[in-house]
Amino acid sequence: MEKIIITIDGWSSCGKSTLAKQLAKRLGYVYIDSGAMYRAITLYFLRNHVDWRDEDEVHAALQDITIEFHYNKNTKQSDIFLNAEDVEYLIRDLIVAEKVSEVAAIKEVRQFAVRRQQQMGKKKGIVMDGRDIGTTVFPKAELKFFMTADISVRVERRFKEMYEKNPNVTIEEVKNNLEMRDYIDSHREVSPLRKAEDAIELDNTHLTMEEQLNFALNFLKEKV
Ligand code: C5P
Repeated sequence: MEKIIITIDGWSSCGKSTLAKQLAKRLGYVYIDSGAMYRAITLYFLRNHVDWRDEDEVHAALQDITIEFHYNKNTKQSDIFLNAEDVEYLIRDLIVAEKVSEVAAIKEVRQFAVRRQQQMGKKKGIVMDGRDIGTTVFPKAELKFFMTADISVRVERRFKEMYEKNPNVTIEEVKNNLEMRDYIDSHREVSPLRKAEDAIELDNTHLTMEEQLNFALNFLKEKV
């Protein structure tokens, strides 16, 4: 069966990665979390005190960053490695989430990430989620989804996830972070978050995970 590229874009915490993983598993495709790349770059900048308002500092720092994904046998998912260190867990921290959208708005950071994302899609057979995958990274992808869900549902989902790791996190912090990221992501100059014209909109506010997968599989049948 001919392999395709599936892109999933949308607002923060609306289930993009859940759907992407479901589809990748069903099809035997590779799942790539593009947000993890921006998070890993942000982690590097924070750790190394890179002033990201300074173009030269950003340029120099990016030369020292290597990002790779490696399969984790225990979780049966790919972990992201920053300069050979598994940072899959660390990048989910609120400290990173608070800065990631600022870093992801920088032109050179985006060029760096998009180049790698496009390389990963060369052989097709991938599902990639993010904010600009269907518009900028793979504008010719065969199947594109744009996901959305009510803000209250999104906050609740993300809060549950974060609370498991850090019981000190509050629902207000999570809500503020989601709203701030959505605002910056959709208002930045370079590849802002928007629905590609040919993307299928999927609002999963009232859908179970199974219903969401079935919705996507119906469109997939037409494409593959
Ligand atoms: O997907 P996730 O929420 O982990 O992404 C973290 C952040 O990375 C987003 O809020 C956004 O600022 C940035 N991002 C992006 N473009 C992508 C994926 C993520 O700008 N393709």
